[in-house]
Amino acid sequence: MERNLIGKIIIQGKIKCLSGLHIGAGKETIEIGAIDASVVRDPITKEPYIPGSSIKGKLRALLEKALAINLGIMGTTKRRNIGSGVNPVYVHVCPDLEEAYRCPICRLFGSTGERGRDREGRNFPSRLMVRDAYLTEESVRELLEIDTGLQFTEWKFENAIDRVTSSANPRQLERVPRGAEFKFELVYNVEDKDTLQEDLANLNLAIELLKLDSLGGHGSRGYGKVDIFYENIKAYSIDYLRTGQGEVKEIGNLAESSTLVSFFN
Ligand SMILES: [Zn+2]
Repeated sequence: MERNLIGKIIIQGKIKCLSGLHIGAGKETIEIGAIDASVVRDPITKEPYIPGSSIKGKLRALLEKALAINLGIMGTTKRRNIGSGVNPVYVHVCPDLEEAYRCPICRLFGSTGERGRDREGRNFPSRLMVRDAYLTEESVRELLEIDTGLQFTEWKFENAIDRVTSSANPRQLERVPRGAEFKFELVYNVEDKDTLQEDLANLNLAIELLKLDSLGGHGSRGYGKVDIFYENIKAYSIDYLRTGQGEVKEIGNLAESSTLVSFFN
């Protein structure tokens, strides 16, 4: 199976925190309910940011939930354990390239081929790249002015009650305050026209679902409600990228993806 690159679609915009946002800085952990108190920060500027992997992982999980029944993903069927034996975490990943190409989730978000005794599944690298999202300059200014005792963030006091002993387990969580805005950028590799519209419609679906879900930790307790605005969605052909000449197609939102199919014809 050949993979071609016929163009790029760059999607830029802003993620606005409608409630406090906590993206933990703790060690990579996939345990649900894992606790780490401080937020992830850029090591140079010390500003909190949203790792592209956090955004991408959440979009993927939301799309998987929305398409699970259609794709026959149930329980451990068509899912792989990416956790441990004690703490299993099942996610959908297609076992090889050909299956991934036919799968709307893996085509967009990628899959690692399953290798084992009887198979040599090849990877399907993600068509979608999600860059780290940094605070807007305006938000940096605003957050520098507020005095919380922390740089750019606030502490939120949480009191967890032990369900068995009823004892209180107070702790503090660092979070990015409500109102903060981050710049995001997604890059979609256009590999063929047949699947372009479906891919972008699914990306649109995942982003709409994210607005109705939450980003980062502690979503069930009100954290991580975000709004997402598009500022720039531009499609570039390979010819344009090579010569700097020709048309750049701009669309207002991902729901208009049908107009891009003819652009790449
Ligand atoms: Zn798949």
